[in-house]
Amino acid sequence: RVKELGRGSYGFYQPQMNANLLSRMKLEHAMRQAIGSGGMDVHFQPQVDMSSGRITGAEALARWNDPELGAVSPGTFIPLAEESGYIVTLGAWVMERSIQRAAAWMQAGTPVVVSVNVSALEFRQPDFVDRLTRLLAVYHLPPAMLELELTESILLQEAQEMAARLHELSALGIGLAIDDFGTGYSSLAYLKKLPIQKLKIDQSFVRGLPDDEGDQAIIRAIISIGQALHIEVVAEGVENPIQRQVLQELRCDHYQGFLCSPAVPADMFAQLLQLSAAVPLVPPPAPVRRV
Ligand code: C2E
Ligand code: MG
Ligand code: MG
Ligand code: MG
Repeated sequence: RVKELGRGSYGFYQPQMNANLLSRMKLEHAMRQAIGSGGMDVHFQPQVDMSSGRITGAEALARWNDPELGAVSPGTFIPLAEESGYIVTLGAWVMERSIQRAAAWMQAGTPVVVSVNVSALEFRQPDFVDRLTRLLAVYHLPPAMLELELTESILLQEAQEMAARLHELSALGIGLAIDDFGTGYSSLAYLKKLPIQKLKIDQSFVRGLPDDEGDQAIIRAIISIGQALHIEVVAEGVENPIQRQVLQELRCDHYQGFLCSPAVPADMFAQLLQLSAAVPLVPPPAPVRRV
């Protein structure tokens, strides 16, 4: 049986291995039904320009609501999908929905760059670039309106081949972002060799603001690297105005977090976009303090 852990997430922490395996299999079976039965959805979380307070981007995040299990967190089902290989199907589905939405928002006169998380296994598929190119053509979406969020681990595996693929995607005009930056094992050397446009500061560093000096030092370092290499920097997990203020003083360009909004269904995101086009979603920034 699947054991509820609270906060809508489910885990497999059973005393016996058999129960553990069984619950994994049941969960995976349910996940495979979810796309067809309407249980799987894609929500969007705004990325906000720090100085204007306007929405410039949307991160697509998979959401699964099972009739029996309730909301299952991506922290549970994404790793499961990665282990079983189902992430290739799930990822392709999320990608198509995201491109479709980005095209619709553009047609509605509220263009926004949509960022899609891509797992290593998806990125390694030999037809990944071809499929993406076809989807962009089908939905008439300019490649610059799409961004891929990759983790540092992707850049380490089969480095030559993956670098070639990144250059191919970048030449098409698709944006490339490194997700959870600062938590991986990669060297910094790839940043000057690869066509990366954006670094997303992991939320574990943002959580320590404003007090943790170590976190602040790491964030400061990431921002200077970004400035030196002309790579945009986005802070993840910004939950309160003080964190936003400190990040702005450190010259971080964009932020994402509950302070502005969590990920919301597509129709609600469209409303946020129209609102943001009219008025900034957060108060205009306070004058910069001398630090
Ligand atoms: P991520 O790509 O780093 O996404 C950011 C996560 O932080 C999301 O969790 C988001 O809801 C959460 N978040 C955003 N703002 C805040 C905040 O202010 N405070 C806190 N505490 N959290 C915040 P979520 O949606 O649970 O997703 C978790 C991870 O699952 C994602 O991390 C991503 O790695 C993965 N994931 C989600 N959807 C997909 C997908 O469609 N494909 C792939 N490959 N991975 C996905
Ligand atoms: Mg992400
Ligand atoms: Mg992240
Ligand atoms: Mg993450």
